[in-house]
Amino acid sequence: MLFLDNASTTKISDNALKVYNEYSCDYYFNPSALYMKGAKIHQDIQNAKQDILKVLGANKFDNIIFTSGATESNNMVIQSFAKNGSKKALFGISEHPSVYNVAKHLQDNGYNIEFVNITDKGTIDIEDYKRKLTSDVNFISIMHVNNETGAINPIKELVNIAKNFNKNIVFHSDGVQALGKISVDIEDLGVDLYTISSHKIYGPKGIGALFVKKGINIKPMLLGGGQENNLRSGTENTPAIFAFRQAIIDAVSNVDNHFLEISKVNRYAKDKLLSLPYDISLNSNDMCSPYIISFAVANLRAETILRMLEDKDILIGNGSACSSKKKGNRVLSSMNIADKYIEGALRISFNYTTTISDIDTFIAELSRAISVYKENTNR
Ligand code: PMP
Repeated sequence: MLFLDNASTTKISDNALKVYNEYSCDYYFNPSALYMKGAKIHQDIQNAKQDILKVLGANKFDNIIFTSGATESNNMVIQSFAKNGSKKALFGISEHPSVYNVAKHLQDNGYNIEFVNITDKGTIDIEDYKRKLTSDVNFISIMHVNNETGAINPIKELVNIAKNFNKNIVFHSDGVQALGKISVDIEDLGVDLYTISSHKIYGPKGIGALFVKKGINIKPMLLGGGQENNLRSGTENTPAIFAFRQAIIDAVSNVDNHFLEISKVNRYAKDKLLSLPYDISLNSNDMCSPYIISFAVANLRAETILRMLEDKDILIGNGSACSSKKKGNRVLSSMNIADKYIEGALRISFNYTTTISDIDTFIAELSRAISVYKENTNR
């Protein structure tokens, strides 16, 4: 099988799986228990938080809250902002549904929410951002790397603009597609809140985290036993927490060399796509994350091509897996991609082991699939 849908999820690494098994089988004690074995796990969780803060380039007095994944982290942040008494909030128009749909929900319930446009390149339109940054804005959420196109937002610049305008604005960024793929230094970015997820970086599913800068007030979504300093009740998912820590350490320590290798694979794939004798639009430019390429073949249905490739044991995505069953495409339409490409939008996304030879296999089968499609449909 050739798996080119790594932005949707990744295979767990051997290292992470080993840790997962150890904590499931040997150190399975409840961290809230009073006996020593439980207390030890509780301490291990605190150590894991410190390790993650360090790898993220954060301060040791900042906080990490473990959640069930990025969807929960994003919900927690946005719902907390609403509970804290919102004035006006800004969101990027290309946010993942776990941010966008929560923002829409608040808007439908009377909250003052504005969406900031993106440019044709897929990054935040700075002029529109500045226009919408009015004195009543007290919360901003803008993703670091877009999951459909790989477009990288200039988070540091956006934070600076906001904080220079009003230092009390709270700034959140969804860093799911950034962590382990491009270098992330939380302190340097200047964000107050940052969402990360494990299963995109070779860790287990069902675990994510929220970085919370010291002094930022966050409200819990889940009430109960008071775990995570009362911020997220429920018995901690210890095997996943420690496997996630391992996955982060491994991904971040290799981030630069993997970036260089995958940049070559990315360049090769883009050149090959553009050399095909079809009307193809590349929706990811050279400033995007090298791990994601969004492209579209004019007047063709993406799902048909996706299924034809699946028959050849090649798995790719169409847009974001979380919204793949929805019609239209909010992200590509906001980039002013012509209508004839929207229905045919596909996404290939790499992991650090993807090779040039994988791309050759993919391109050969893609080319064959498009030609069969065109023959059968006369398009
Ligand atoms: N944000 C982004 C940018 C994503 O790509 C994803 C996963 N598609 C999520 C949030 C949701 O992550 P999770 O599966 O951990 O809830």
